[in-house]
Amino acid sequence: MNVFRAARQHLYRMLFGTAASFVFVVVFERFFGHSSIPFAICTVVLFAMATGMWKYNCPRCGSNLFMRGGIPLPWPNAKCSNCGLELDRTEPPATTP
Ligand SMILES: [Zn+2]
Repeated sequence: MNVFRAARQHLYRMLFGTAASFVFVVVFERFFGHSSIPFAICTVVLFAMATGMWKYNCPRCGSNLFMRGGIPLPWPNAKCSNCGLELDRTEPPATTP
């Protein structure tokens, strides 16, 4: 699996986590009436999940797939914003740093 597909899976995991958290908070509020506790738990869990984005870097230059010139965006780059490497085409050649 290339780095772009892995990063896209991370995006889908985050979307699923966000949706699941929303449902969990709403259901908890409906049945127990205290949504602040599950909301806090979901915030911490989603934040911990989001830190996984730092694993997805360009194999050529090391630029993060979720960063565009210092601005983090929730969806990954198909083309490296730093060196222009096509990240979704083929398995990139292994380079030693
Ligand atoms: Zn690059």
